[in-house]
Amino acid sequence: MRLVLVGPPGAGKGTQAQFIASNLSIPKISTGDIFRANVSGGTELGKLAKEYMDRGDLVPDEVTIAMVRDRLSENDAQDGFLLDGFPRNVPQAEILKKMLEEFGAGLDIVLELVVDDEEVVRRLAGRRTCSQCGRIWHVDFDDKKDDICDACGGRLYQRDDDQEETIRHRLEVYQEQTAPLVSFYAHEGILVGVDATGPVEEVTQRAMESLSPFAD
Ligand SMILES: [Zn+2]
Repeated sequence: MRLVLVGPPGAGKGTQAQFIASNLSIPKISTGDIFRANVSGGTELGKLAKEYMDRGDLVPDEVTIAMVRDRLSENDAQDGFLLDGFPRNVPQAEILKKMLEEFGAGLDIVLELVVDDEEVVRRLAGRRTCSQCGRIWHVDFDDKKDDICDACGGRLYQRDDDQEETIRHRLEVYQEQTAPLVSFYAHEGILVGVDATGPVEEVTQRAMESLSPFAD
């Protein structure tokens, strides 16, 4: 199965990507992993990407696309894959479509993790990080009443990334970028939405159920 996973920050996309890919016995291919592999492997594309990153610039689309193409050409991806972090926008989706056509394949499904904005804010804004050991606690899920780490006694604080304002901004950016992408795939007839609220295992189970009609 050739699958793309999309979802807002705080939807648990990384975790779901891992579980779903392993349930389907297909490789999980994330742009983060591809970047790291190219940079640490010292490939030409990796060196190029590193030049941009070292300057603090965004890696251009062409470089990312070339890395994705290389990765999708590898043996383990021939019978299916789960893409996480690519495509990010409609132009990338169109390029992916052409790329897969060259390989004689197409996407089977685009799975969208659907979470209410307020739920994302509750999940992320409730996170507290230990200033000593780095462990993350949650005010609701861990029932944290004080701001002391139960593991090491260190003081807990709220990271800038976990501030409500930052989260709402990230959600807006996500909506702007992803809404057209989601419409693109809905139009292609391969979009499936999964309710991503609730415990991780339940979300995985719902995702697997909604994928089962498309499994070989
Ligand atoms: Zn601690």
